[in-house]
Amino acid sequence: MDYDIIIIGAGVVGLALGSKLSENGKKCLIVDKNDSFGMETSSRNSEVIHAGIYYPQNTLKALLCVQGSRLLFDWCEKKNVPFAKIGKYINAIDQEDESKLDSILENAKNNGVENIYRVDSAKFNIEEPNIIGCGAILSENTGIVNSHKLMASLEENAQNNGADIAYSHKFIDAKPEGSGFRAYLQYSDDSVFDVSCEYIINSGGLNADSIASIFGINIIEENLELSYCKGRYFRINSYPNISNRLIYPIPPSNNHGLGIHLTRELDGGAKLGPDTLYVDKNNFDYTVEEELKQAFFESAAKYIKNLKIEQLAPDQSGIRPKLQKATEKFRDFYIKEESDKGIPGLINLIGIESPGLTSSIAIANYVSEIIK
Ligand SMILES: Cc1cc2nc3c(=O)[nH]c(=O)nc-3n(C[C@H](O)[C@H](O)[C@H](O)COP(=O)(O)OP(=O)(O)OC[C@H]3O[C@@H](n4cnc5c(N)ncnc54)[C@H](O)[C@@H]3O)c2cc1C
Repeated sequence: MDYDIIIIGAGVVGLALGSKLSENGKKCLIVDKNDSFGMETSSRNSEVIHAGIYYPQNTLKALLCVQGSRLLFDWCEKKNVPFAKIGKYINAIDQEDESKLDSILENAKNNGVENIYRVDSAKFNIEEPNIIGCGAILSENTGIVNSHKLMASLEENAQNNGADIAYSHKFIDAKPEGSGFRAYLQYSDDSVFDVSCEYIINSGGLNADSIASIFGINIIEENLELSYCKGRYFRINSYPNISNRLIYPIPPSNNHGLGIHLTRELDGGAKLGPDTLYVDKNNFDYTVEEELKQAFFESAAKYIKNLKIEQLAPDQSGIRPKLQKATEKFRDFYIKEESDKGIPGLINLIGIESPGLTSSIAIANYVSEIIK
């Protein structure tokens, strides 16, 4: 065998897998079709280390987020990756909102989230004078991270442990061979070369369902077809000291996103978003249209005092690879070794949307246990 494991995708999850599995002594090859790491969803997100508050109990999203946030804070400290545990408020702006806080808190505690509690309006208003709120939940274990430096640290650890990384190489096919596979990779000049391995891990983000279908999995019958949900952001300019913490409204009941929230950045910047817009799979357009400004302003002005529409400017966007269709309430991460589909050695990771950044190291540990 050329490699023990080929990992398809050098987003934050593929890199965390390469870092962990190579640490376990496995000979790994990470391949990515782009010419560097993290050029898709892993660099188009809120960079929030989530605590694991909302996910239904005993789901992978809940378990891996709660574990993952602890592992990620530890990793960042150990590897000097910039981060800040600034905490997050989920704030109620009226009585109806306030009535939902207890059930959110209970769900968080059931998921094992620590350092989370109710804060009354008096304390909230002193701490966050620019934010309207009549009661809130404070999650102290929520933070922000520099996702680029995080990925660089994971890449470095994988390489130090002997992993190879092949950028500009697209995984295009695999055939069973012996107890593993022969994988076919296409370089950017269209030349194709092949390598043998025991395991293939599909961590292909937005392409994870089509990569699974290369192995003969009928993604429609298996209910593994991805839907794509764009999230757009607006930057808030010239509003000094807007908030001390991340500020989240009560999430919408359709579970598609967390509502247009106020995210702080490590350099002191502030942005609003992401919103949720299901898009066609053949139309990955990352434009953020100026015309959305009014809608963002109206959402944010409900909880940010003295916000002016002129302070908003279009910022980045990202696309969530969702198993949850627009009409569905919740779908969990799909992380599975596919022996029962007749493909031993293939491990699929499909639908790794939020909290995938937070969960990345925990996902790597989970897959490492599957391989053991
Ligand atoms: C708007 C938005 C906000 C978010 N906010 C947060 C947040 O605050 N906190 C959080 O925890 N999570 C957040 N997330 C989720 C998080 O960004 C993702 O879960 C995470 O980045 C997924 O990483 P990944 O490595 O699985 O995928 P990706 O980063 O998409 O990486 C997949 C890689 O696979 C490669 N690839 C695909 N097909 C092939 C092929 N055939 N051959 C070779 N390479 C291939 C791609 O080039 C890509 O680099 C957010 C997501 C979005 C969209």
